Amino acid sequence: MSALAIHMFPVLSDNYGYLLHDEASGATAAVDTPDAAEIAAQLAAKGWRLTHILNTHHHADHAGGNLELKRTTGCTIVGPRADAARIPGIDVAVGEGDVVELGAHRATVFDTPGHTRGHIVYHFAAARAAFVGDTLFAMGCGRLFEGTPAQMWSSLQKILQWPDETRLYCAHEYTQSNARFALSVEPQNRALQERAATVARLRAAGQPTVPTLLAEERATNPFLRPQSRDLRATIDLANAADVDVFAKTRALKDAF
Ligand SMILES: [Zn+2]
Repeated sequence: MSALAIHMFPVLSDNYGYLLHDEASGATAAVDTPDAAEIAAQLAAKGWRLTHILNTHHHADHAGGNLELKRTTGCTIVGPRADAARIPGIDVAVGEGDVVELGAHRATVFDTPGHTRGHIVYHFAAARAAFVGDTLFAMGCGRLFEGTPAQMWSSLQKILQWPDETRLYCAHEYTQSNARFALSVEPQNRALQERAATVARLRAAGQPTVPTLLAEERATNPFLRPQSRDLRATIDLANAADVDVFAKTRALKDAF
C-alpha cells in the first residue's frame, strides 16, 4: 500500500485546504471545499484528478466549493448524515463509526457536534492522520455555534482517545491568537510557554503551524486540559466538573 499523500495549502484568509492522494489507485479527495478555483489549481499542479470530497461540516468556507467541483470533476461527495440537508451535492452520508475508503486507505468517521450540529471528523488511523475541520485547532477549539459545551466536550473526548502521534489537520491557522488566550488562562504551563514562542517564530517566517500533534495538544491546549490546576485556579473553578471547566474556558475565549 502506498503512503497516503497529503497536500496542504493556505486558502481564503486563514483556511487550509487539503488534498489526499492514493498513488496506487489514483483516488484523490479534497477535505472540504473552501475555494473551488484554488482547489482546481492545486489539483492541476499536482496532476491529480479529484474523485472525492470529504466534508466536515456545512459552513461556506468548508462546503462552498462542492457543487462547482462536482460539476467539473464528477467527484463523489461524502458528508455528515446528521447535516445532509445542508451539504451541497452530498452523495454519501456518513456518521459515527462509518468507514470511508480512498483507494486502499480507510478513515473512520466520528460525529463531533458542537461547532455545528452535524460536524464530523475523519481519522486515518494507519496513516496517523486526522482531519478535524473546525472541531479542534492548535491550542484551540471551534466556536459553539450550534451545540452545547457538553456536546463539544464529548466530541473532544473522542479525539483524545487517539494515539499521541496522531497528526491533526485542522481547517484554520488560528494558532498564534489561540496561544495568547491559552497563556492567559494557563500562565504557568512551561510546555505552552515554549510552544507559543515556537509558533511566534514560525508565523514571523510565514510558516504554517498546522498540522499539530495530539501529544502537543494534550500538553498545551486549554480546551483539553480541564484537569490543569493552573487553569482551574485562573478561572476560579477549583472543584468543578471537567465539563464546567471546559464551558467556562470556551466562554472566556469567546470574549477574549
Ligand atoms: Zn465552521
